[in-house]
Amino acid sequence: MLSVGTLAAAAAQPPEHVLVNSDQASPAVSAPKAASAAAAAPEDQDKDEPAEPGHRKPCPLFMSCDDEDLSEFQCMVRKQIEVFEAGKEDLEVNARGRNRPIIPGQVGIRCRHCKVVPPKLRQRAALYYPSKLDRLYQMSQTIASVHLLEYCQHIPADDRNGLIKLRQIKSAALGGKKYWADAGRALGLIEHDKRLFYGKNSAVKDD
Ligand SMILES: [Zn+2]
Repeated sequence: MLSVGTLAAAAAQPPEHVLVNSDQASPAVSAPKAASAAAAAPEDQDKDEPAEPGHRKPCPLFMSCDDEDLSEFQCMVRKQIEVFEAGKEDLEVNARGRNRPIIPGQVGIRCRHCKVVPPKLRQRAALYYPSKLDRLYQMSQTIASVHLLEYCQHIPADDRNGLIKLRQIKSAALGGKKYWADAGRALGLIEHDKRLFYGKNSAVKDD
């Protein structure tokens, strides 16, 4: 059973209480701003506009409440993947005939281990730009099974072996794409013109 209650509770807190394993210290977020953003219901967020590009540091997909609803394998996958805003070097891949160009501030998901490699030189399935929140799940599964388990040249052996081991453990169907979409919303993501962005109304994690 999917519990959205946990996510709702997570969304009701400032993001620094939700996100763990971030390699950056979370800056203080002013409480009223975070609270008003978190209080926005999904319907309100649908009307939200994309925030100005370039405001947020990459953050892990994983949230502490994931443990309650997702298998160990899925939690570990989420720890290897981070949410990022497309920057200048990400836009350079546009030249290679994408049918929908990446635009500044557009949000994607990527392997956190090879983000040091220029985007166009990364191995297969290292990053994706989901068009909708409910694509987060499937694209992350592809990053896991194709990139993390096979192609990534930067993932530490311990992490890869951990993923291989956990994947073999059969667990009841947990989470699923609705959970991943709800978790994306809790991170402040919105859908706009078939792309994902951080919403203007989501708490800003400026320096
Ligand atoms: Zn990688």
